[in-house]
Amino acid sequence: MNILVANLGSTSLKFRLFRFDGAGGAALLAKGGYERVTDYGKAIDDCLAELKAAGHVRSPADLHGVGFKTVLGKNLTGCVPADEKTIAALDGFKEIAPAHNPPYATGIQRFREKLPGVPLVALFETAFYQWVPEAAARYAVPEAWHQAGVRRYGFHGASHKFVAERSAELLGRKDIADRVRQLYQAGPTPVSGRALRVISCHLGGSSSVTGIRDGVAIGTSMGLSPQSGLPQNNRVGDLDSAAVPFVMKTLGLSIAEVERQMTKEGGLLGLSGVSNDLRDIRAAATAGNARAQLALDVFVHSARHWIGAFLLELGGCDALVFTAGIGENNPDLRAAFCAQLEQLGIVIDPVKNDALRGAEGEISAAGSRVKVFVIPANEELVVARETLRCIAAHN
Ligand code: AMP
Repeated sequence: MNILVANLGSTSLKFRLFRFDGAGGAALLAKGGYERVTDYGKAIDDCLAELKAAGHVRSPADLHGVGFKTVLGKNLTGCVPADEKTIAALDGFKEIAPAHNPPYATGIQRFREKLPGVPLVALFETAFYQWVPEAAARYAVPEAWHQAGVRRYGFHGASHKFVAERSAELLGRKDIADRVRQLYQAGPTPVSGRALRVISCHLGGSSSVTGIRDGVAIGTSMGLSPQSGLPQNNRVGDLDSAAVPFVMKTLGLSIAEVERQMTKEGGLLGLSGVSNDLRDIRAAATAGNARAQLALDVFVHSARHWIGAFLLELGGCDALVFTAGIGENNPDLRAAFCAQLEQLGIVIDPVKNDALRGAEGEISAAGSRVKVFVIPANEELVVARETLRCIAAHN
């Protein structure tokens, strides 16, 4: 079974092709992509020609499905066929995710035209948050705003779901790993035994922290849009809503300019004044740049704030997990996230922590009550697996 995962940006198409064996094992057969795309139809043709030339997909009939990691849709979430309803849902919330929803809507439409008969599946990033308690999803806004869709949706669902499944496996809880695997088809099935509490920290170009009980999210740091929560690469993260009218009035900025600055000139870039990439910020901080050091400190403070929130919500935790570019590759930041948490049962082993970069492993000390893991993100694999399950469920 060949499953293509298409990652659509405003001017790019990136793809990965997975081949699944009968037992659910997946091999990555190919990956690639195109930048400066102006015609998705042509990019799709090029992609298929590339896969044909490599001998992986001789014709569209060899393709069993295409999966899309869509961000959020109006009145629609989960893992669903990427059809007219999905395109309308993406369109309905294009104002919330202007960089993501329009390219996905266009791209899915073009895939439908180019590959008639090939099942297309959308895995919404919000899917993992379908069972978050209402009290954790609601903003204290006027009812009309809520009715219009202003609520916490949460993002990075594919990544946090992978962490939920993999951490359960690492902790020997096959029952919970199975529960996570079936979540989008069966919903949260009954559980027995001790609760499994995990805090998943997806720290990368875009970051979020999610609390997970028995494999199901109970809350997350991101809200209405991917602009919230921790400072992002160039997006502001959490911000008092009064800041927007304040800068409009005092700096004379238009709403479009405020939106541009909040998404392009905020976050780690805005704080550091150096770069949106943590590697550059670290290098500048090491060289004595005070703003770069402050950017790192704010990031650590914010991550700890959200880890603390979920420690309380979950009543403690069994595993704290770091994933994505920053979480996987920066032992010193991981040590900072976990500093002085001994009373809460979180103790890092400095030798294990320093040795682990870009690979899976445990970094907690032998006596640590909470296991601390690094689990490399593999969002495309999650999309491919869910696409396969969705196709099976709809046939
Ligand atoms: P992601 O969004 O998961 O691709 O993560 C991107 C972020 O991870 C950027 O801020 C990078 O600076 C950071 N990152 C990626 N690789 C490394 C590395 N080898 N060392 C330090 N930071 C890294």
